[in-house]
Amino acid sequence: MLTNEASLMYRVYPGGEVDLTSQDPSDKGVWKNSSKSDYEAMMQEKLDELKSLQNMLFAEGKHKVLIVVQAMDAGGKDGCARNVFSSMDPQGVHVKAFKAPHEEELDHDFLWRVHKAVLSRGMISVFNRSHYEDLIAVRVKKLCPEKVWRNRYRHIVDFEKMLSDEGTKIVKIFLNISKEEQRERLQARLDDPDKLWKFEPGGLADRARWDDFMVAYNELISETSYDHAPWHVVPSDRKWYRNLVVAQIVINALKELKMEFPEAEWDPKDIVVE
Ligand code: ATP
Ligand code: MG
Repeated sequence: MLTNEASLMYRVYPGGEVDLTSQDPSDKGVWKNSSKSDYEAMMQEKLDELKSLQNMLFAEGKHKVLIVVQAMDAGGKDGCARNVFSSMDPQGVHVKAFKAPHEEELDHDFLWRVHKAVLSRGMISVFNRSHYEDLIAVRVKKLCPEKVWRNRYRHIVDFEKMLSDEGTKIVKIFLNISKEEQRERLQARLDDPDKLWKFEPGGLADRARWDDFMVAYNELISETSYDHAPWHVVPSDRKWYRNLVVAQIVINALKELKMEFPEAEWDPKDIVVE
């Protein structure tokens, strides 16, 4: 039923001007006639496909894959990790969450902690937040001078180009939720004792700077989307739709690698397991 339309329609092409407010975060795009009840069967299909592609990635041991996920608070980064990436063999995938840098990290350059987290051949690294915080959080919260974060555009573009040239497939995903959806999700954390631990009063300061974050994200996504490291802006108010689209984007990226199982150097027919 599904082609790679989903990943194509949300992909940002180099030189494209991004305006996050022009997308409807509750959009259902190619699944416009589907509802949440159709979701489970469709999702299972995607997860099975992902699992077998990841199995091949691991078996072939040729490529590295890096998936960057950025979003506002409560945007669904953890949900993606739980619902999409968890389907894969945990030995081949690692989700790395980048929190505010601690002292040792701040004593190094901003890419120090990031580069170490890019895994080796056959593996998929998922970044839950990433080096893009060193442009976004730092800019909006005025944590360092503009001269410093401006230069990071170039550093990040060069870093990703280096990773790509050295055999890392990069996919970047921005989960686009509306301010109202964020309000509802944050309120739900306050109302539910099982979710309360996720609520951080400090996060409200970021919410108050919503418009500044959008301006910064628009610029960031427009300036750092390349064929070798494209951004995708995924409507994310509907969690089920977001999961499907993210799974599809990753499937397409893995398919582009044109992987094959390694050929045995011997004929299995010649071997008998006694
Ligand atoms: P959760 O879903 O658990 O809330 P989270 O990713 O929001 O996950 P938090 O510990 O709540 O995790 O938030 C991380 C905070 O750290 C964010 O406010 C983010 O902007 C900030 N942060 C991450 N990396 C950097 C960085 N390099 N410089 C400054 N702030 C950063
Ligand atoms: Mg948080």
